[in-house]
Formats: sequence, structure tokens, C-alpha cells
Amino acid sequence: MKAVRLTAWGREPALCEVERPVPHGADVLVRVEAAGLCHSDVHVIDSSPGALPYRPPFTLGHEVAGHVAALGPHAESPAVGERVVLYGPWGCGSCARCAAGRDNYCDRREDLGWHGVGLGRDGGMAEYVLVPAGRHLVPIGDLPADQAAPLSDAGLTSHHAVAGVRHALGDDSTAAVIGVGGLGHLAVQILRATTPSRVLAVDIREEALALARRSGAHAGTLMRADTARVLRTRTGGVGVDAVLDFVGNSATLELAADILRPGGELALVGSGGGQMTVRKPGFLPPGFRLSLPFWGTRPELAEVIALARSGALHVEAERFPLSAAPEAFDRLRRGRVSGRAVLIPG
Ligand code: NAD
Ligand code: ZN
Ligand code: ZN
Repeated sequence: MKAVRLTAWGREPALCEVERPVPHGADVLVRVEAAGLCHSDVHVIDSSPGALPYRPPFTLGHEVAGHVAALGPHAESPAVGERVVLYGPWGCGSCARCAAGRDNYCDRREDLGWHGVGLGRDGGMAEYVLVPAGRHLVPIGDLPADQAAPLSDAGLTSHHAVAGVRHALGDDSTAAVIGVGGLGHLAVQILRATTPSRVLAVDIREEALALARRSGAHAGTLMRADTARVLRTRTGGVGVDAVLDFVGNSATLELAADILRPGGELALVGSGGGQMTVRKPGFLPPGFRLSLPFWGTRPELAEVIALARSGALHVEAERFPLSAAPEAFDRLRRGRVSGRAVLIPG
């Protein structure tokens, strides 16, 4: 079968011919219908050797939807033919966190050598993907695959990040979303669907601000020298209650610190490598709280799928055949994707 693989550190991913995996034990073999491209894939591809615990070669793709093609002898569910999305942050499977469906915060994460499907383990940018346990699969019914796949990371991570700051987002609150790409456009929709907050979007691209408005943002602002002032003005001078930063460079962290209201929440999701100084006394607002949400929990994935099936979420997806993965990656790198690029195997 065809698979998009990271063959070695420092190389671009390659379309390879590999053996179709055979399910053993409790494995479930999934025929892939769609696999999303995440900016984290770009960070992985660009990593220097040793920076991540993964050992190439492996197949990329951590946002995956499809249907069950075959079961290992000890796998009982889901049934062959069932349409599913993969819960991707596979943990050790035996610690208390994994038992509770919180593999994203597995206690043995440091020892595993992977962070999930397509992140050190063979992923879904292929015709088939092997899933080590049925508990990693969530049914999607008739949800289109190009919708379901991005929901498993872009949607789930955004939902989990919003959940962490939800207590700050009551009536008359304001949330700022920085970076309206694959994750950000779903964060805007999740904020609108699950909180009463006013949503302000920030990006460096006009097209991304247009996507933010289509996603339900009340206003959009280009990232510029005066952005903090513009956003403060939009909150009547008080500042925002929560910032969801899907970029995470030093400029966006500085913006977040500038616009947060006392008691404000910063959820740092983007892996932009920026730094901020925490000092007391200092410049951060009193009561400032920072979280570093990683992906999300299995129950949250079921919630995201239910939200989408109710019509509250729509992924803006650009579809590419699997063989066009290099072009799709190139467009993602150059900021030319609107929403999410999704690979559709033949
Ligand atoms: P994306 O490329 O689809 O979107 C990024 C958006 O940010 C684009 O619209 C881009 O124009 C905008 N942007 C870039 N630089 C900016 C700046 N300086 N100011 C404002 N906007 C800027 O990326 P994505 O797939 O949505 O991923 C976003 C980030 O989240 C990446 O760093 C990714 O690695 C990270 N991520 C983290 C998790 C997690 O669990 N914490 C999960 C998935 C992705
Ligand atoms: Zn991702
Ligand atoms: Zn675990």
C-alpha cells in the first residue's frame, strides 16, 4: 500500500510502497478515508535528530478517519465496516490516566518513544492504519471523513484548550484566538458554540481573518505593532478574559500578556518556540494563569464528534489525493491552506 513516511531526520516525507499491516492480538485495521495535515507535522519534519523521541522511518498522519477493515483475534469491537475516527494520543494503555481515556497525559509518556499515531508510530497518511486497541476508535456515523479526521486533533485540541479556560468565559467575557488556521478556525467555532464569549481573532493573513469571520468571530485584527491597543479598545479598555494562542512565538506571547485582563487565562497551544518571562513583581497581569494543553481526552473527542454531528462545527477542508502530499505540505508551510489540508487515499 502507499504511505507518506518520514524516512530519516532532515528529509522531506516520501510517498513509499509498504506492506499492508496485518492485525494481531487486539489490533484493529482501519481503511483510511481521510488524514489531515497538521502544522505539528511540519515541526516534526523540521526537527533535528534527538529533539523528539521518535525513531524514523514511520508513516505520518495523526488526524485520521476511516472504517474498520479487519480485527485481530482478540479485538471485539468496533465491528468491521464501522466508520470511525482515531483517538490519536496513544499512551502506555495501563496507567491511571490511560485507563480514564486521558492518554494525552499518560504517566509513562516519557518512556514510550512516541506521542501517538503518526508521531513516532505508523500513522494514517496511508491506505490502511493499524490501531493497537478498539478503545482508540470513536464512531462517526455518516460524518464525512474530511470533516471527522481534522476533528480528532484540530477540533479535539481546540476543545480541550477551551475546556481549560472555560471558567473565565462567562457572560460579557471576551476571548482572543491568535492564529486562525486548522486549529484556530475550529477554536472560534467551539467558543461560539459552547460559551457566551465575544470572540476576537488575530492572524498575519487577511484570508485567515476572513475564515475567522466565516467561523463566527465577532472581529478580526491583523498582527501588527498596534494590535494590543486595537484589541484593548474592542474590550472597552479592560482587556480579554482568555487568549488561545495557536502560534506561540515570542510576539504572540507578548501580545497575550499585553491584552489579558487581571485574572486572565492564557492557553498556549502553538509550538512556535517563543519565550516569555514570568516574574513577580513584573508585567504579567495579577491572577494571570498559563496552561499548556496537549491534544485532548477520549471523552472530549466523542463530544467534538457529537458537536459536529449536531451541525455546530464545520471544518473548512482542502482535499488532496495521497500522492499530492508533497504539494499539500508545501502549501501548509507557505501559509496557503485555508482551514485544513486533508489527504484522501485512492
Ligand atoms: P496552521 O498552519 O493551520 O495555522 C497557523 C495559523 O497561524 C495560520 O493562519 C497563520 O497565518 C497564523 N500565524 C502564523 N504566524 C502568526 C503570527 N506571528 N501571528 C498571528 N498569526 C500567525 O497550523 P495548525 O495546524 O492550526 O497548528 C497551530 C499550532 O498548534 C502549531 O504550532 C502546531 O504545532 C500546534 N499544535 C499543538 C497541539 C497541542 O496539542 N498543543 C496540537 C496540534 C497543533
Ligand atoms: Zn496535530
Ligand atoms: Zn499511560
